[in-house]
Amino acid sequence: MRFVTKERLVEQRWLSKDEAKSIRQFEADEADPSQEETVTRLLKEAHDKGWWLECDCNEERRRYPLVSPVLRDKALYWRMITGPGRLAHSEKCCFHQREVRRKHAANWSKARRKPPEGFFSVLKPTGGTEAKKSVGGGASVKSTSGGQLPAIAKMLHSLLEKAGLNRWYYDRPERNISSEYAALRQVGSCVKVAPGVLLRDVFFTYAPDWPKNIVFKRMREKMKDWPDGHRPQGFVCYFCHEVDQSGATVRVKGEEIHIPCAGTVKYPVINGNQVSGPYLFFGVLAETSKKSGLEIQRAYAQPIADFNHFLAIDSEFERKAFNTLQFTLKRLSTEYGEYTWWLEKPLFEMGPDDEPCLPDFLVKARHRENHQEMTFVVEVMGFDRPSYLAGKEITHPRMEKFGPLIEMQGKNFTEENPSGDGRKVTEYILHYMSVNGS
Ligand SMILES: [Zn+2]
Repeated sequence: MRFVTKERLVEQRWLSKDEAKSIRQFEADEADPSQEETVTRLLKEAHDKGWWLECDCNEERRRYPLVSPVLRDKALYWRMITGPGRLAHSEKCCFHQREVRRKHAANWSKARRKPPEGFFSVLKPTGGTEAKKSVGGGASVKSTSGGQLPAIAKMLHSLLEKAGLNRWYYDRPERNISSEYAALRQVGSCVKVAPGVLLRDVFFTYAPDWPKNIVFKRMREKMKDWPDGHRPQGFVCYFCHEVDQSGATVRVKGEEIHIPCAGTVKYPVINGNQVSGPYLFFGVLAETSKKSGLEIQRAYAQPIADFNHFLAIDSEFERKAFNTLQFTLKRLSTEYGEYTWWLEKPLFEMGPDDEPCLPDFLVKARHRENHQEMTFVVEVMGFDRPSYLAGKEITHPRMEKFGPLIEMQGKNFTEENPSGDGRKVTEYILHYMSVNGS
């Protein structure tokens, strides 16, 4: 690293090895007091003389990325100089990493995945052209936890939560696709889409009804006495394996049914790849214009664990984790039968609004007699990207307030070892119980 003038970047002096190291430690929040003193001195020197710092994290034809001292709240800081014509800092650079951490701290200081309030509705009363403006747009939703979700996805999540489908109990009857749909429909009897309109009456879960126009007929019937001031809307929810931006392909008893969406179908994407199915294809049905009639205006394809479990997952690693954690629960239930054990996939953030977190899974236990509850947090670590890890750095301490945190490494799920770190989780909890359990 060296100091240069702002004009024409003329070399002024090289930093010593110790000085450069002090800066790196400082940016990583790992500086000792004498290193902090060094950085303060360097910042002051650069600021007083009007110099910039050339960073050594990157080089292109003798050009280097730049850093400038800036005064903020009476204190000096380094700030990356970015923009057109400037050479970018590398992803591993200490200045870049600090910026990533700062952004994540800001992102994670506000709850964004909160349960929707009010009526079970996605479309607002005004306007009739919204499907048109979003046709063909990008269809991805970043899947790393904490991302903003479209309203339609939040609605589906609230439905799954109310139906208890984001929980899996070891000692309850086995589930199947029929019981999952039944649980969803049951919630439909207690949720209102508008005053006096139950979701049940405008909720369509049987795909073969679609090509027969049964969905439209029933919807039209219901629209006749829809309350004023509310936009008529219905919901489709279909299990399927194939989804793209234009709709879903549902297979029922060998029959292939295409369910088109007039707007954009959104689905989670990780590193540019669509998270694989199966999915729950959840769409809002409404009239766009008199001419086009009833259409699915917006839809979300939520990846789920499998055919028998409508449990929302964010990645393939989480799908594998759900499978292996069932064995963990079996073992725990055998060893500690005085507790009811269950697995939970939180769909909305936990913790206070200004310190939210969204754990991947919770292993929970309730004592059958004294009702004492225990929580273990399981995080499935899937990405090595610094931005992802920075997010976890902020949220993991928050999760630990709910209970001990156990990490599963996604990369440890292999063909030879399909249960990945499942055994590690089991052993951790067993050990914990032997020390702390009753
Ligand atoms: Zn740099």
